Amino acid sequence: MIKESALVADAAVFRQVVPAGDYFIKTIERGQTIRILDLEGNQAADTLFYSAADPSERYSAMDTIREQGNLYLTTGSKLMTNEGNVLLEIVADTCGRHDTVGGACATESNTVRYALEKKCMHACRDSWMLAVAENEEYGLSKRDITHNINFFMNVPVTQEGRLTFEDGISAPGKYVELKAMMDTIVLISNCPQLNNPCNGYNPTPIEVLVWDN
Ligand SMILES: [Zn+2]
Repeated sequence: MIKESALVADAAVFRQVVPAGDYFIKTIERGQTIRILDLEGNQAADTLFYSAADPSERYSAMDTIREQGNLYLTTGSKLMTNEGNVLLEIVADTCGRHDTVGGACATESNTVRYALEKKCMHACRDSWMLAVAENEEYGLSKRDITHNINFFMNVPVTQEGRLTFEDGISAPGKYVELKAMMDTIVLISNCPQLNNPCNGYNPTPIEVLVWDN
């Protein structure tokens, strides 16, 4: 569901551009709103969320899909944890659909989906692992790298239940906004994938903005 935000960028308490292939990690407080902005269009922001108080409580795709009875995420979606609590809620969305079943790219999936020689190419899982290694203060480890949300990514599920990776439906300036229902660690891999039509084979920067309410 398309819904525009009333928040003004100038009033944000935090802004950061994340280049393609980089990661972003930050704790946002309960009540704060975070916007992920697709600056140039058709970019995938592979995102994990954790409770800051106890990172073993984290975003769960299965619980979220089951509770809302819908495979896709958009305005009104409540992002559930593996313990059945609401971590964040999508409060604005100008893209209209986000994937949470396609998973993130990894060197292994690159070889399966594309070609054996793609194994050495940079993938989202590498970015998350680097983020975890370089930011020990968050208390995350390899085992916390679990199922994620692909903001702006178009992964339709067919009648037969198959996944298809399609051209992106996002465009420059589209965004998704989430309000935190608890203190939340946000970990984004701004996808470096060069083999996927979802981003037009062209990874581009995103911007992250945070407001106090
Ligand atoms: Zn990726």
